[in-house]
Amino acid sequence: MYAKVIVDVPAKQTNRAFDYSVPEALRDWVAVGSRVSVPFGPRKLQGFVVELDDRSVMDPAKVKPIAEILDLSPPLTPDLVQLAHWISQTYLCHEITALQAMIPGALKAKYERHVRVKDDSMGQERPMSGLSGNAVGQHSFLLPAQQEIIRYVAAKGSVEIEALLQRFNSEGKLIKELMAEGYLQEVQMVKDRMTAKKALTVFPPDDPEQLRAWAEQLPSRSAKQKEVLELLAERPVPVKLTDLLNELSISAGTVKSLVEKGWLELREVEVLRDPYSHRSFQRTVPLSLMPEQEQVFQRISRPVMDREHRVFLLHGVTGSGKTEVYLQSIQTCLDQGREAIVLVPEISLTPQMVERFKGRFGDQVAVMHSRLSHGERYDEWRKIMQKQVRVVIGARSAIFAPFTQIGLIIIDEEHESSYKQEESPKYHARDVAIARASQHDAVVVLGSATPSLESMYGTLPEYKAEAAAREDSSQARFRSEQLDLFGASTEAGHPAADNNSQARLTGRRVPFELLTMHNRVEGRPLPRVHIIDMREELRQGNRSMFSRDLYKAIEDRLHKKEQTVLLLNRRGYSTFVMCRTCGYVAECPHCDISLTYHQSSRAIRCHYCGYAERELTVCPSCSSEHIRHFGTGTQRVEEELTKLFPGIRVIRMDVDTTTEKGSHEKWLTLFRNRQADLLLGTQMVAKGLDFPHVTLVGAIAADTVLNLPDFRAAERTFQLLTQVAGRAGRHELPGEVYVQTYAPEHYSIISASRHDYQSFMEKEMTLRKFHEYPPFHRLILITLSHEQVPLLMRTAELLASRIKELAKELQPMPVEVLGPVASPISRIKDRYRFQCMIKYRGEASISRLVHQAVAGFEELERQQKLTISVDVDPQVLM
Ligand code: ADP
Ligand code: ZN
Ligand code: ZN
Repeated sequence: MYAKVIVDVPAKQTNRAFDYSVPEALRDWVAVGSRVSVPFGPRKLQGFVVELDDRSVMDPAKVKPIAEILDLSPPLTPDLVQLAHWISQTYLCHEITALQAMIPGALKAKYERHVRVKDDSMGQERPMSGLSGNAVGQHSFLLPAQQEIIRYVAAKGSVEIEALLQRFNSEGKLIKELMAEGYLQEVQMVKDRMTAKKALTVFPPDDPEQLRAWAEQLPSRSAKQKEVLELLAERPVPVKLTDLLNELSISAGTVKSLVEKGWLELREVEVLRDPYSHRSFQRTVPLSLMPEQEQVFQRISRPVMDREHRVFLLHGVTGSGKTEVYLQSIQTCLDQGREAIVLVPEISLTPQMVERFKGRFGDQVAVMHSRLSHGERYDEWRKIMQKQVRVVIGARSAIFAPFTQIGLIIIDEEHESSYKQEESPKYHARDVAIARASQHDAVVVLGSATPSLESMYGTLPEYKAEAAAREDSSQARFRSEQLDLFGASTEAGHPAADNNSQARLTGRRVPFELLTMHNRVEGRPLPRVHIIDMREELRQGNRSMFSRDLYKAIEDRLHKKEQTVLLLNRRGYSTFVMCRTCGYVAECPHCDISLTYHQSSRAIRCHYCGYAERELTVCPSCSSEHIRHFGTGTQRVEEELTKLFPGIRVIRMDVDTTTEKGSHEKWLTLFRNRQADLLLGTQMVAKGLDFPHVTLVGAIAADTVLNLPDFRAAERTFQLLTQVAGRAGRHELPGEVYVQTYAPEHYSIISASRHDYQSFMEKEMTLRKFHEYPPFHRLILITLSHEQVPLLMRTAELLASRIKELAKELQPMPVEVLGPVASPISRIKDRYRFQCMIKYRGEASISRLVHQAVAGFEELERQQKLTISVDVDPQVLM
């Protein structure tokens, strides 16, 4: 039996499966998705088995055996292995990078240098020493100390070099000699970064009567020991030692005596760390659905029951009760004996959100997000592996949950740009979800109050026509693409897991079906939105950051003891430092970006590289003292608030106040418990929060994003305003929203104030189509960076012309190569940046060609430390 293995080296030469033989002893263990350790040149590497075969095209004498299997059951399912292949082709990354992204960080390989006694050090001729050795321990020509070292290593099997040097710390030289002479051999071991947590556990005998009998035997001074035996007789189940000690307020010695008598047993047992173990969740029952909810629920649950792959785009206004629809649809899915994945944006994965799912499905739910520790995340993942849970709720990467029977995938707030991963693999969780669902004949629900234009496009006739046209040729084309993506080698395009009947990932795309909920639950009105023209405020002599109306509204809420949410959109609005006399702006010496003022540390910092210097009091350029910190950071708004409203209790949430683990939750709980009057923050406060006493929402500077050089600026502005407005008046008390702006006539602001998604979407679609932007055209952004401009420019131009040349083959498919030009942020960490943008219509063939072009530069990348990064469907254009 042979295994095709992708090894842990992300490079072009190793971006294919290598053949290994499966030793007899491992036959029953090695499967598609197994993590193995394999010899690779002189090293041992971690790898993933992507296919099993009874033949190999390689010379059998050259095929090496798999050294070790790293997990008892494969951490990846066959469909995930196939999905990784799809990701590597779609987003142009190395296959190993995609595979690694699917497993928890705890399982990423750590390579350790170990030594062990050389296999043949028994009875072999030793050329270097000229001694003929015997069995370990009988190396009579070795010093006693050396013999001891060999015995020690032999007993342990293998010992990490550092550990061995520590153990025999005065004998480093002897160890070195043993290695040089070949008695000891260095081996690289593949280890996990994290191991399962173990806890000492007390095991009572099966028969409780026995325990009582022993308790009788004990002398009266052993009252504590008696107590232990009696408790266990009462409750004869294994118990964690620490729990037992706490419960009876006894010392470990008491238990130890009982163990020594042979009455109890103490063993280490694996435990799963449960990040939510300290919390209990109130069980909730399904609500009776509102008519719109009911309709939508029916549409979703039918294909779930029929096991049909469908994609729904659920457009439901804020407060329309999307979550309840999700919950009931998941119930349908679980009733079918299948599993569900729920993705939510990282920052809205609040305890409140978790509560909604744990409250309904209890212990069946695993939670995955980046604020969990490595260990906690690993254990949540193991709950999925061990089939202890059937629902996972998590951020982006939860799409890779190793479920095997997926029936439903929900993506809440599907428009969020955080579903796109910004480092390799640069995948979009929405597209991966659809691909994964197609493997399982599962249903996808994309939910949002402000669906992305991309998803909306999926519901348009234009898309249907495109998809249908593609359908005819896609099957054939997909196969051929698979084969020549990495050159024509037969080994390269392994049709992963072809024999797995479930896996049918053809790249086929179904049109999206639009479902709409126009009304809030129980007919609650959407909040009234007032647009405030800040230019007019200035004309009236108001130089404060608060308009008079917003000021009055906050004052009014303080009186009524209702709560306010204030949004300060900081993107593109950082607090820069400028000299009023000469116009000098403080910039990072390593990056092409202005420095940001941080009041708490009285320093100015670079957000890209972390460079910091003390705040300036005189201008370095003209020595003027009129140097000022411009812009409105959250800290300054907070200051202003406390000045204007003495005694106001403000909670500020931004990157500075939420870095600590659990701080995010802490602030929200305080606010929910009404221990603050006002919640001030960045985007973080706009998403998903549901607080009954919030009746006022203010956006301090609504148009800051509008000025960014990004074709999605209007869309992002509309989304953010709609989302934050949606935080007001979600319960009995009606809400009101104030939007302060310098661009009151902009269509994104006007549509948002009218809660008019439809007219915004139509206008924006028209513009995108006219300017040939996504979703009508697709983009691939290629960014090159290097320390020197001339080489960088030359390479960028070469690459661009190479792509143009290759693109000629594809005619008449329109492909446009824009650039190269300097990136909007033209230097980061002393590396200059250039970019090329590829604009095209239609399907994936273009990615093959880009990959081919970029691969031609890999040698140069290595030699010159140049980097080329490719971003398919980029969300960030900087
Ligand atoms: P959305 O996610 O669409 O913004 P939510 O799911 O947060 O809206 O629902 C808003 C509020 O309405 C929540 O407090 C929720 O508990 C409540 N709700 C949802 N569905 C119903 C229903 N059918 N009957 C009563 N209340 C409901
Ligand atoms: Zn100056
Ligand atoms: Zn910098």
